[in-house]
Amino acid sequence: MRLANFEGRATIVTEDGLVDVAKSSNGAFSASLEKCVGQLGTLRTWFNSAHPRPTDAATAHELLGDERLGPVIANPSQIFAVGLNYAQHAAESGLALPSEPMVFTKFASAICGPNAPLPLPGPMTDWEAELVVVIGATARHLREENALSSVMGYCVGQDYSERGWQFKSSPPQFSLGKSFENFAPVGPWLTTSDEIANPNDLGISTTINGVVMQESSTSDMVFSVAQLVSYLSSFCELRRGDLIFTGTPQGVGQSRQPPVFLQPGDVVVTTIEGLGALRNVAVNSSVTSPTK
Ligand code: ZN
Repeated sequence: MRLANFEGRATIVTEDGLVDVAKSSNGAFSASLEKCVGQLGTLRTWFNSAHPRPTDAATAHELLGDERLGPVIANPSQIFAVGLNYAQHAAESGLALPSEPMVFTKFASAICGPNAPLPLPGPMTDWEAELVVVIGATARHLREENALSSVMGYCVGQDYSERGWQFKSSPPQFSLGKSFENFAPVGPWLTTSDEIANPNDLGISTTINGVVMQESSTSDMVFSVAQLVSYLSSFCELRRGDLIFTGTPQGVGQSRQPPVFLQPGDVVVTTIEGLGALRNVAVNSSVTSPTK
């Protein structure tokens, strides 16, 4: 099942169109995304048995670029992000493979809908296509072999990063440099984990103005999704709705010769096999970047 935030209402995306959850269930389920995410199993059972008719004819393909889509998870209690988690990205960065996951955060105010515009806070804004894991239940100390049972689903994400601010000082400011306005688009919807047989076998790509910049597979991850969930749960209590940005493959702008960064007007499309695509247009920031 694919659960979307369409015009602020919980909506299921089907091959034939969109199903407004509250209207189609005659109010048995709320229009609130937060409430629907809280009873995802029940919602899926209802959807699979009731076969509700679409309330809007828009298809998944037609929603690429549609700003009526908002974030399915808008206020996670925690957002984890992992650096250098693809072998070929570590290689292009000239760095050895990490022996432990390299964890930082993206602050929640950076979360936005899948097709939101991207204000550029500086001249070195870069792209990072990422598989985003959505935690489904409170958990601690998960073993790797059952870690995926705590995952409710997956989204496509972009870990936009302003490299000038990320690396301006020492030690670097990963969390701040990656948390500007709209630096964490997630979506286009939540695909429930029952639809993804193996999260570490999905094609992942970024195009800019139609040119392929990243094209890889989540099989290149250094630490698998299950290993990351287990690892994080050994430190932190994982909670329903928490997000994990699982790292990016090779092909980011700063590792190119010469480096390439986003310019106003650039169109970034981020795609993961089976999960859909995000589309963000870079725009001039209406505010000045952080004080010098
Ligand atoms: Zn990243």
